[in-house]
Amino acid sequence: MMTQAQEALIKYFGYKAFRDGQEKVIGSLLAGKDTLAIMPTGAGKSIAYQIPALLFDGITLVISPLISLMKDQVDSLGETGIPATFINSSIPLREARLRIDKLQKGNYKIVYLAPERLESEEFLPLLQELPIRFMAVDEAHCVSQWGHDFRPSYMRISHFLESLPVRPLVGGFTATATEEVKKDIIRLLGLKKPNCFLTGFDRPNLKFTVLRGENKKVFIQNYLKINANNTGIIYAATRKDVDKLYTLLKSSGMAVGRYHAGLSDQERKQSQEKFIFDDIAIMVATNAFGMGIDKSNVRFVIHYNMPKNIESYYQEAGRAGRDGEPAECILLFGPQDVQIQKMMIEETTFNQQRQGNEFKKLQAMVDYCYTSRCLRKTILEYFGEMDSPEKCDNCSNCEDRMEKVDVTLDAQKILSCVYRMKERYGTALVAEVLKGSNNKKILQFGLDKLSTHGIMKETPLQEIKDRINFLTAEGYLAVAGGLYPVIKLSPKAVPVLKGEEKVFQSILRREEVNQTDAEKLFERLRVLRRKIAQEEGLPPYMIFADSTLREMAEKRPQDRMALIRINGVGERKLEKYGALFLAEIKEAC
Ligand code: ADP
Repeated sequence: MMTQAQEALIKYFGYKAFRDGQEKVIGSLLAGKDTLAIMPTGAGKSIAYQIPALLFDGITLVISPLISLMKDQVDSLGETGIPATFINSSIPLREARLRIDKLQKGNYKIVYLAPERLESEEFLPLLQELPIRFMAVDEAHCVSQWGHDFRPSYMRISHFLESLPVRPLVGGFTATATEEVKKDIIRLLGLKKPNCFLTGFDRPNLKFTVLRGENKKVFIQNYLKINANNTGIIYAATRKDVDKLYTLLKSSGMAVGRYHAGLSDQERKQSQEKFIFDDIAIMVATNAFGMGIDKSNVRFVIHYNMPKNIESYYQEAGRAGRDGEPAECILLFGPQDVQIQKMMIEETTFNQQRQGNEFKKLQAMVDYCYTSRCLRKTILEYFGEMDSPEKCDNCSNCEDRMEKVDVTLDAQKILSCVYRMKERYGTALVAEVLKGSNNKKILQFGLDKLSTHGIMKETPLQEIKDRINFLTAEGYLAVAGGLYPVIKLSPKAVPVLKGEEKVFQSILRREEVNQTDAEKLFERLRVLRRKIAQEEGLPPYMIFADSTLREMAEKRPQDRMALIRINGVGERKLEKYGALFLAEIKEAC
């Protein structure tokens, strides 16, 4: 049966080989064993249940909590030529009955179902009559109260299974791997002697970078200039930061959207849709954005602030590069980030023990921001994978994309100014003294008499502030006090002041952007894809993934035979879109 699975992969999805893990999971399901698949985001869980669904007689029921995604998933399957439908609260009962009727008649192979439907007395008898051969429970961790997305209606699944005349085969799919959650899934879904597959958590196509003490706004503006054509998400910790950043980027003419809980449903829906349809390239958002977004061509995720723990970070950063193409995850660490997260934990977690736990997780996040070890290894070890290589050569600590700049002289000037100002003032005033300002406050406190007054007068004020922030992020300075924070020297500052130690700042080396011919063609194909997507009313990534367009741009297929050899071109898509893409490639060459 594995040969048939392979054939289905090529025929419907246009992919030439199964990914790590997929083959094992599919093999286990086809052998009729209940199966639990724990695979990271982007590993390709959907295909691991869709292919068995295609090969089995009867119907496959997919339980999914992500109602907003169901239509997309069904449309996506439709594009590959697999008949599927969905039933959730957005469908009137009459329409749902109609769909069930069609399921009875064998018009669909797969039906996506919201778990809440299992609670409907009206609905259950209808479902019980369907020839359900296989039930795939997506996001299976939702059944566990230990997980972060507990959904009470997932608890109904096992009752439902028991109520069926013939128990179908059951598969659980999740990206959450803690032992408690795993045990809960097996017990609460009632999996029978399941085969469990845990594929590694590594996402090799993601490049991880941490930058400390950068001027975040300037960094983002420069980054977006270089990556103007790419799709990305920028996460900020607060709504206020999202709004500020959004306004800044919009005013510089960029195609950005924003998303946070303070906006109306309508506004949020609109900007989400624009993002999915590639009408806007960049989304500035709080962590409210992303759950249920299945956009595969996100090329970068920038964190404007450090998140509260590594779980959140990996989940958010992991929204980049789901298509397996290279993508970047950049974390901009600022000294205030730790304070912000501490405050948020204090405001939202009252139970002492839980608070302690949250602080421990926060500390691991801070350690990630400071470590000089491989960033990927640090993350993987956090998740319990101890055997990954010491170096990944694809993170800012392994790669030499970082330039070390000697900033000792500036550091000495700043540190001695803080010392001479008796460690009694905040960043703004220290910066102004260094700049040589003679404003009222400076004259009033006699700070213009200090020997450090004006010793950085050649440096722009903002740059002086950035340097102070950098020294704080690196622990040479410490922030103290609440409402009016002052900066003080840390023990680490002493050897620098004495000239015994140097200070270096790691800066991302500027990369030249020279578009190759393949990149130019890729851009043309993207424009074509967007045009088709608009005509069809589908998100562009559903027509072809970025990875498929990139392969086309590199291999430049000249005829149908060559085109179908490209990963992601299945039979149906070849029929529907092949001629248009071949014509574009010919014209470009
Ligand atoms: P997950 O649900 O595990 O996060 P998805 O099922 O959304 O992942 O798959 C992520 C991306 O990988 C999708 O764009 C999908 O089409 C692609 N994909 C899945 N399997 C393969 C494969 N065998 N070869 C190439 N691409 C694949």
